[in-house]
Amino acid sequence: MEIRLYPDPVLRIKSSDVSEINKYIKRIIREMKETMEDDGGIGLAANQVGITEMLMTIDFEDGPQALINPQVISVSEETQTLEEGCLSFPGLNVPVSRPLEVSVQYTDENGYKQSVLFTDLYARVFMHEYDHLNGKLIIDYLNPQEQLMYNMEINKRSNND
Ligand code: ZN
Repeated sequence: MEIRLYPDPVLRIKSSDVSEINKYIKRIIREMKETMEDDGGIGLAANQVGITEMLMTIDFEDGPQALINPQVISVSEETQTLEEGCLSFPGLNVPVSRPLEVSVQYTDENGYKQSVLFTDLYARVFMHEYDHLNGKLIIDYLNPQEQLMYNMEINKRSNND
């Protein structure tokens, strides 16, 4: 699967719920896990590979897992600001404030409902991918002037192609 790069419009599409974990969805999950590992990402949202299903993969310590129709139940008041990168924005790092803990519900790839509390790194990775599924991107955390400069740079790059 090819990683879609900003400003590909698919990155702005709000994903639709997965209605059934069928063969098609299972194949997407398998390919997303491979793509995530090949490209060295710790997380991947389906719209980053052009698929607008409410689905992400995260590379946990015990292996990659798919989170289907994820929902945020609650977030901690305590936050932390760290620089984040994104496979759809090569070379860009943006300081992003994220909750230190996030309580989440999702369906796993075997169809079971899961309730999980993510902390620290995985809270951050989850929120980053959850943003993607809602069409939100790391560039949105820059101030308007920085966004303008980045967009001008991207335009220049694509004009030189
Ligand atoms: Zn990303």
